[in-house]
Amino acid sequence: MLSACCLLILPTVNAQTFEQFMRGQPVIDVHLHLYRGDAKSEHYNPGGLQNGATLDSLREAWLIETLDRNQVVLAIGGGSVKYAKEYAKADTRIWAGITFPCSKQVARDWPCEKEFMTLEELKELYANHNLRAMGETLFNYYGIPPTDPRLDPYWAVAEALQLPIGVHADAGPNKVNERERPNYRPDYADPELLRPVLEKYPNLKLYLMHYGDTYSQQALALMRDYPGVYCDISAISLYQPKEVWEPNLRMLYASRLGDRLMFGSDFEGTIEDNLRVIYNIGWLNEAQKRDIMYFNAARFLGLSESEKHLHHRVVLSKMQEQRAKMEEQRVKNKDGNL
Ligand SMILES: [Zn+2]
Repeated sequence: MLSACCLLILPTVNAQTFEQFMRGQPVIDVHLHLYRGDAKSEHYNPGGLQNGATLDSLREAWLIETLDRNQVVLAIGGGSVKYAKEYAKADTRIWAGITFPCSKQVARDWPCEKEFMTLEELKELYANHNLRAMGETLFNYYGIPPTDPRLDPYWAVAEALQLPIGVHADAGPNKVNERERPNYRPDYADPELLRPVLEKYPNLKLYLMHYGDTYSQQALALMRDYPGVYCDISAISLYQPKEVWEPNLRMLYASRLGDRLMFGSDFEGTIEDNLRVIYNIGWLNEAQKRDIMYFNAARFLGLSESEKHLHHRVVLSKMQEQRAKMEEQRVKNKDGNL
């Protein structure tokens, strides 16, 4: 069985650079967002040259290139029906799904055809478009609790199809665009409010996003009571002071729940930054860091041994390819200088 302890462990962690540590390390990012290309993006639209269809394809190409560069072998991403379908087709490593409920006022939810989908509509959607996940949930942004009956079809389909479903479980952000989100209720992100949903759908493959801040105690309590509930550490570890999230992370491990922590970036542009945060946590050992980057999510998603082996082989072969290219360039340069 492949697990962190089987990997070629290089000399003690602190002797390794981040680059050395990441050699051959596949990454699973359980927290991406799939939406239309942003004209203001400096990543893929410097100087605002392109728009319309071209902007979307630029964003798609950049996202895929960014996943390659960061050794991401599987990424869970959510967006509107349109972009979930497009990204599911664009790259098989993207487990795409819908964020919900969407709002017609919110630019990032575009195009929001229906704010709430019926059970039949969801079944049809998931039966025909290779969608393999759900979330991030947006009910707190919309201003309703997770027990709102209009959300019941989503929980029902997610449990029936065993879709990983990411729930926004942090009281942040402090400020939202009030014109887009007039009814924003940060308190509806409290994991405690998910208990009636998990009572009704005990086999939900649910993970709490943004562990490490306001609702950490509630998240730990829920994970204690529901062994199938996992969490991700996205954004909090990058945007909140270490004094805020590190004690909560220590509590997670002290509660023997560290093996339920998964890697999430919340934005592909920060994948490397988020990976470095994990790498730099001095009190975690090498195996624990590799578990966060890959093995905990592999277990949560039920990946087979052969899938895990394939992921490691893919990353290693890409690494060898890169090395061969660099060597070729070096020789060319050397010959060029002769
Ligand atoms: Zn998010």
